Amino acid sequence: MSAEQPTVLLVEDEPAQREVLSYNLEAEGFRVVRAENGEEGLMLVDEEAPDIIVLDWMLPKVSGIEVCRQVKTRPDTRSTPIIMLSARSEEVDRVRGLETGADDYVVKPYSVVELMARVRAQLRRARPSAAGLVLEYEDIRLDSESHRVTRAGETLKLGPTEFRLLSTFMEKPGRVWSREQLLDRVWGRDIYVDTRTVDVHIGRLRKALCQHGGGDPLRTVRGAGYALG
Ligand code: CA
Repeated sequence: MSAEQPTVLLVEDEPAQREVLSYNLEAEGFRVVRAENGEEGLMLVDEEAPDIIVLDWMLPKVSGIEVCRQVKTRPDTRSTPIIMLSARSEEVDRVRGLETGADDYVVKPYSVVELMARVRAQLRRARPSAAGLVLEYEDIRLDSESHRVTRAGETLKLGPTEFRLLSTFMEKPGRVWSREQLLDRVWGRDIYVDTRTVDVHIGRLRKALCQHGGGDPLRTVRGAGYALG
């Protein structure tokens, strides 16, 4: 499994719908994590730091609207796109869905092809490195296509792991990543790596970022992990 694979969190209580969507999302090359109620969905938002959330409106325990509201009010998850699914087609619900902060809204029964297109579109917008674009943070510039990183115009030498770490940080500046989340994202979850390995590579990344001067842009968050800025 590739570490570059975008993660989709699918929150849907109907098993048949969940199966069909998981199958299609995996066929599109996504890594899919599934939740069958809103409570589990919120837990997986924390554990998995998904790139995008496909969220059913009517859910047991915590409703889709409430999940959406919580994700969109938290600074670390606010920029994660949410596509809401609903059996209701009334215009008033569409408005309520968008007011809650959902990025897109799809009414059931939907076309799977269309839903996949919308997932890709939201992801392109939210995670440009997956689409081969340039990410910028202050004086750091990362070109995910040419794998070139510069700081204040000077080329930085980075190992492949440090490059993937930096891409992850630059996709969501300010977001705090736990060591486990970084392991999943950068090394891939099928590989066993000790969490201390993350610290070693963070150390190398810090050194690499400062090789031509400039301050250390990475922040150690005690008991939580690391963040850029
Ligand atoms: Ca439902």
